[in-house]
Amino acid sequence: MVDISLDLSEPHSHLVQVSLRCTPTTPVLRLRLPAWTPGSYLIRDYVRHLEGLEVRQGGQRLLPCRTDPAGWRLELPSLEPLEIRYQLLAADLTVRTCHLDGDHGFLALAALALEVEGERWAPHRLSLHLPAGWRPFVPLPRQADGSWLAKDFDQLVDTPVEAGPHHEHHFSVAGVPHRWVCWDATAAADSLLKAHPTLLQDVAAVCEACCRLMGESAPAAPDYLFVLHLLDQGYGGLEHDTSTVLQFSRQTLLKPEGYRQLLQLVAHEYLHQWNVCRLRPAALCPIDYHKPVIVSGLWFAEGVTSYFDQLLPHLAGLSSEDDVVHDFGADISRYLLTPGRFHGQSLRQSSEEAWVKLYRREANSDDNQISYYLKGAILSLVLDLELRRSGSCLAQVLRDLWVRLGRWGRGYREHDLLEAFSHRSPALAAVLPAWLDGFEDPDLPTYLQDVGLRLEPQQSLAPDPGLRASPQGGALEVVRVLRGGPAQVAGLVLGDELIALDGLRLRKPEDLAPLLRAGQCQEITISRRGRLRHLAITAAVPAIERWRLLLDPAAGPEALQRRRQWLGVVPC
Ligand SMILES: [Zn+2]
Repeated sequence: MVDISLDLSEPHSHLVQVSLRCTPTTPVLRLRLPAWTPGSYLIRDYVRHLEGLEVRQGGQRLLPCRTDPAGWRLELPSLEPLEIRYQLLAADLTVRTCHLDGDHGFLALAALALEVEGERWAPHRLSLHLPAGWRPFVPLPRQADGSWLAKDFDQLVDTPVEAGPHHEHHFSVAGVPHRWVCWDATAAADSLLKAHPTLLQDVAAVCEACCRLMGESAPAAPDYLFVLHLLDQGYGGLEHDTSTVLQFSRQTLLKPEGYRQLLQLVAHEYLHQWNVCRLRPAALCPIDYHKPVIVSGLWFAEGVTSYFDQLLPHLAGLSSEDDVVHDFGADISRYLLTPGRFHGQSLRQSSEEAWVKLYRREANSDDNQISYYLKGAILSLVLDLELRRSGSCLAQVLRDLWVRLGRWGRGYREHDLLEAFSHRSPALAAVLPAWLDGFEDPDLPTYLQDVGLRLEPQQSLAPDPGLRASPQGGALEVVRVLRGGPAQVAGLVLGDELIALDGLRLRKPEDLAPLLRAGQCQEITISRRGRLRHLAITAAVPAIERWRLLLDPAAGPEALQRRRQWLGVVPC
């Protein structure tokens, strides 16, 4: 048993005081802090926020020897109980880091809990000391003494801890208790529920739709906690076995589609309860918290989940056919207009390079990257429509994998995925690996025709300079140069300040379009590193600025029937 006690009683310091007690079984002991948290594939080096490590045994202070940036080795004089103390700076407000101030505390325990060698599979008891008036929200079984018990280190670090003066609300899904806790950083407590009085009912309906999608009568978790951080700006979610933490923006909620997007985020993280948390890639069984792990199936873990998160609110009766078509259209458009899809990464490469690319986006990322969330969702749409041609559907493949592997906690490998797909549609045995490794897209328009949908390009009104500019500190700065486009050919680079076109002053991004002449050589004046330059640019003809997905008015009764089945997640 390891006892971990967290003291949040001085929230304004942003410091969490950590005390860890255990009884060693070997004379040499190693301590390590995880470098990343499952569900977010980036080495975060949480140890940079750890301070003042002290180890004591029987009143004597021991000197830990550092073996790597996040690891220590202890030589113990005896096997008496040990106390390990340190503090952690909690000043990073995301769903995968720690944040503590006078308003609330949120702790992602992977960022905070040292793993004691030999104790990974031992129970960990968690105690919290909170400021007066604060309540704890912890998705672990509560003990009679007020502590919580995790069956092992993995369950401990899979536990998000929220604390503050906020309230929790209760509802149930198929008899399973669910809690909803919202920390509203922008307004009075529970203002979200006042603005959306049906919220809890709608979240429950989405959860029930997830169960139906999985062919289950109840959720996989024995109970479930939703923690929502409602901020001025921000977006994110992190899945856990019996809980999720969501970050959502009040600005987005004010938009017409904002509430639907919140329900999609709820659906996404809740579906992870099956796809990812329990139906888990074999590379994450068990999880190595200390180094990056190549997970080539992330396209399935995140892409399939992202695809269904668009359909689930509809399945719950909370969004219309037009909403679904609009949302898929936005994704398809974003995908088709990302150059990285044909000369950047294949879907497999995107999954494998998550650690160094997806979470580390920069100005040129659209040229050399394609998100496995986005392309994975587009491929999931194609796979669903392909499987429907064989009388099956994507939900059925997901359920097959759940029943065969996920339910028993057996990790899946790529051949398990290929087998599951080709079992329902033999053609996919050859085609799916080609789609994962290749840059050529499946015939999307023909698949969309199956369900009476068509894609329509929307041309920009202005000639295409192959750049995007944005006001930065009083200057109009180039923030994107399209690879191989007119601006790059002209010699423009990121960071150039646009001054004038054909001698006419440029001050705002919208000043550029009316002055451009397609196919004509024009003089563009820029400042680079403080020196004026005159370059020649020839804008191209107007490019496609977006794609729209539309209901095809010419769709026949069979296509319409297939569309109803597709939207209802019913096999054809
Ligand atoms: Zn996800």
